[in-house]
Amino acid sequence: MITIDSTAVIGVIGAGTMGAGIAQVAAKAGHPVILFDAMEGAAQRGLEGIEKGLAKLVTRGRMTQEEVDTLLSRITLANSLQDFAPSRVVIEVIVERLDIKQQVFAELEEICAADTILATNTSSISVTAIGSQLTRSQNLVGMHFFNPAPIMKLVEVISGLDTDPAVADAIYSLSEAWGKKPVRAKSTPGFIVNRVARPFYAEGLRVLQEGGSNEATIDAILRDAGQFRMGPFELMDLIGHDVNFAVTSSVFAAYFNDQRFLPSLIQQELVNAGHLGRKSGRGFYDYSETAEKPSPATAAPQKAPAHVTIEGDLGVAEPLVQLMIDAGLKVTRVDEGEGSITVGNATLRLTNGQMTTQRAAQQRNSNLIHFDLALDYNAAKRIALAPADQADEAALQAAAGLFQAIGKGVSVIDDVPGMVVMRTVAMLANEGFDAVNQQVCSEADVDIAMKGGVNYPFGPIEWAYAVGLGTIQAVLDNLANTYGEDRYRTSPLIRRKVAGGL
Ligand code: NAD
Repeated sequence: MITIDSTAVIGVIGAGTMGAGIAQVAAKAGHPVILFDAMEGAAQRGLEGIEKGLAKLVTRGRMTQEEVDTLLSRITLANSLQDFAPSRVVIEVIVERLDIKQQVFAELEEICAADTILATNTSSISVTAIGSQLTRSQNLVGMHFFNPAPIMKLVEVISGLDTDPAVADAIYSLSEAWGKKPVRAKSTPGFIVNRVARPFYAEGLRVLQEGGSNEATIDAILRDAGQFRMGPFELMDLIGHDVNFAVTSSVFAAYFNDQRFLPSLIQQELVNAGHLGRKSGRGFYDYSETAEKPSPATAAPQKAPAHVTIEGDLGVAEPLVQLMIDAGLKVTRVDEGEGSITVGNATLRLTNGQMTTQRAAQQRNSNLIHFDLALDYNAAKRIALAPADQADEAALQAAAGLFQAIGKGVSVIDDVPGMVVMRTVAMLANEGFDAVNQQVCSEADVDIAMKGGVNYPFGPIEWAYAVGLGTIQAVLDNLANTYGEDRYRTSPLIRRKVAGGL
């Protein structure tokens, strides 16, 4: 076991956005920190950035000036890599280029002690490839922080093919000592977060591309029903389409063009146009001063229903029944049936990944309306409905009236398979299970990573268990059948667990 206590010197190479933040985290934990940047003045600017951030914390009463002074006194700016000789751990946080990273690590190997741990903060390059030119590649490990490093809790600890497990363990423990929530992953494209998060953007983009709804409505559904902090379009606008498209494209290429990661033409066009999001003033939304933020499509108020019949078990949507009772609606329950709500002439079912129109035809029930998944039906402020093409207006009005009567806003979307939240969550879980199936990481680490790295309200794997793996498998199978695309293939691990009765 390798132990690294807080007296150990931490070297940080690269003092940009991430490097400065990481230096701050290490100094806060009590380490002497050496910070270096190859660009003239950049290390000094990085340090000034740290000082500015800490000054704000003092103003807000989160740190005392004395604590800040102590923290800052631990950071020394270096003039060259030679100054890294006393480092116990060196974290590389430089430009995202394999050749330059290899070169820096090769130099460090000459300068540092033989047991110095070399860590890279790369987001997208193989840790194995970075270590391939080293004499002691067993000492190299990925230590992937998230932006902003002082705030985001997640650190992905990445093992390359040659990484000594004891080195990975040491970085895992060090991350914990720094107040972070580490996870372990094998060196594979996108590691955990940048791989598992792809469907969050991709499914939103597909629904948009197929005219399921507009950006503002899809964003609102994922926020209000899915409880994601931001919808995919506002989030892509924030990240920048150049950056987000480059990550998707690089993951797609790195998985040898696996259709699962297929980039979106819609996003490519935004990049082509230079509509990069907030930073360029326009992306999916217009950020000019005079622009108004578009409102999500919300159905007009309808009459509350006099009577509702519930057939069978609604599964994950079962809390809706209590909400109806609490709202004073007359509810009749019938034990048989495969989980449906009858209101007026409408039959409502949780989406199963088919188009409502398909399912209505199969069930010879033209007034079928799908409703979407919510993380928590009690807390959801909005529910999406997708009527079958055969459904009449009265059925849609009855369905909208029901959800409005229990306090939900209603967004009617076009009949896209799997709707919005359900297909997004099913595909996030599918990717998470596939990562586990391919021995990249554990189920628990998928959830920790997605909650800590991208602020998901709930881990995709625990969410899939809550919905029921059988339901998730059915949604994915129906998406795969409807689209005929390999993209929607169900992870073998989901099949295995469903078959095994989990
Ligand atoms: P950045 O451009 O803000 O900073 C990089 C710094 O490294 C610059 O100051 C640059 O002068 C310096 N540098 C470049 N080559 C150098 C060299 N040979 N020696 C010393 N210094 C050198 O970039 P960043 O956003 O901080 O990203 C740095 C690394 O962290 C990349 O590998 C990136 O993929 C990864 N990363 C970035 C984020 C993010 O959100 N920005 C998140 C996680 C990981």
